[in-house]
Amino acid sequence: MGIVVIGSLNMDMVVRANRAPNAGETLMGQAFALSPGGKGANQAVAAARLGAEVSMIGSVGKDTFGSEMLEIIKQEGIHIEHISVSETEATGVASIVIEEDGENRIIVVPGANIDLFVEDIQALESIISQAEMIVMQLEMELAMSEHAIAIAHRHGIPVILNPAPARVLKDEMLGQVSFLTPNETEAGILTGMTVDSLETAEQAARILLQKGIKNVIITLGAKGALIVNAEGAKSVPGFPVKAIDTVAAGDSFNGALAQQLVLGKTLEEAVSFANAVGALAVGKEGAIPSLPQLSEVEQFLK
Ligand code: ATP
Repeated sequence: MGIVVIGSLNMDMVVRANRAPNAGETLMGQAFALSPGGKGANQAVAAARLGAEVSMIGSVGKDTFGSEMLEIIKQEGIHIEHISVSETEATGVASIVIEEDGENRIIVVPGANIDLFVEDIQALESIISQAEMIVMQLEMELAMSEHAIAIAHRHGIPVILNPAPARVLKDEMLGQVSFLTPNETEAGILTGMTVDSLETAEQAARILLQKGIKNVIITLGAKGALIVNAEGAKSVPGFPVKAIDTVAAGDSFNGALAQQLVLGKTLEEAVSFANAVGALAVGKEGAIPSLPQLSEVEQFLK
């Protein structure tokens, strides 16, 4: 059954400008593009392009963006049978401003993504229970997400949770996660401490491990990632590249991590490979358009 991604599908509306405007300010931008994304879709495509068998559970609106998203996901070879079409909500959108230095600012309007509820995920228990790995983020209804993790946990299916966008989560939910992959900001919000160095990242990860999470992997941008689990802490260096657009860096990292773990790689090997995939994604514009094929990653790692 491969990897099941339970997650968001959004149409990204991307504006490029020298810098983001201040409050009350209007700026002239350089370019505009519509680009398929959403953390769930990005993770699913990242894993599929690396060769994984991927199914997606999610929801789009009954509108043009929704049809386009389904078509794009299907063309990547991802199973779309469990993506529902909402009668009431529009397809999720993300308004993204990318500054000259590649830094991004994003507002997500979730729409159909939060039109998937506990009873919907209960009806998909047989799909979750047959997965080799569940991959999730937090752009959907929280009670549904909690329930999905509980179902996976009950069936002994490992869960990768990228806790983004950042929010405070119940210990019970966190305790059922096998691989938690916050960035530094998210690790800070989950633990209530400032995370801005390897030392503080390790401290935060240890607090999270106490909640029952098996492996905490804190992504550190260009510096790579830090793995902390019962065996200790291990920093896995990133691959230096010129950042063009960091959109989907985290998502590509998570999709790659899932694909590598399902292949049977060790966590350190999987994280190193995911760092390479993340580096390739920041070297290109867009969310889904920036995700590398397996051959590109192999070439990059030669
Ligand atoms: P985003 O929200 O931009 O998608 P994130 O904040 O969730 O990303 P990061 O820690 O910034 O997550 O990046 C995820 C991974 O992508 C990193 O662990 C690293 O492997 C890779 N990466 C990100 N930025 C860079 C960079 N500038 N150079 C090389 N690799 C990078």
